[in-house]
Amino acid sequence: MNRIAVFPGSFDPVTKGHEEIVRRALPLFDSIIVAIGRNTSKSSMFSLEQRKQWLVDTFQGESRIQVKELDGLTVDFCRLNEARFILRGIRNGGDFEYERSIAQMNKAMHPAIETILLFADPAMAAINSTIVREIIKNKGDVSQFLPAGVNVYGE
Ligand code: ADP
Repeated sequence: MNRIAVFPGSFDPVTKGHEEIVRRALPLFDSIIVAIGRNTSKSSMFSLEQRKQWLVDTFQGESRIQVKELDGLTVDFCRLNEARFILRGIRNGGDFEYERSIAQMNKAMHPAIETILLFADPAMAAINSTIVREIIKNKGDVSQFLPAGVNVYGE
């Protein structure tokens, strides 16, 4: 049976923190689906197409990583894609409390799907898409926080 993990997020935009979690998790699974959600609680700065393109560029050449759009519940998306694992990253205590609630509620809805949490590399733990967006709004240089090749200011 294939070990498929879904890494859901809004990736608005993808950061080095997201990239690092996916690359570190790759040896644990046969494949990882990076699933871009529309995010019902925040409106996004970048379009779905743009967020998807940056993820595709970031993981190009990695045949075991796919990028897909996610509509609806993550657990339903997992079942549709025959994934038994949800991958998430933890940066700090705030993430921990949030991820614990989501994981426990997902578990209650679909007990067969396990959430796997990886702690952020300390060098990446401060990187946060919300703060990256604030810097972009103020025209700051965010390149050190983003995967190589992701240029939010265009060519
Ligand atoms: P969401 O809006 O669902 O929180 P994000 O795109 O912000 O989606 O993040 C997706 C996942 O990546 C979450 O599990 C989040 O905790 C994790 N993550 C975000 N930034 C980092 C980082 N710098 N290091 C490790 N994990 C991170």
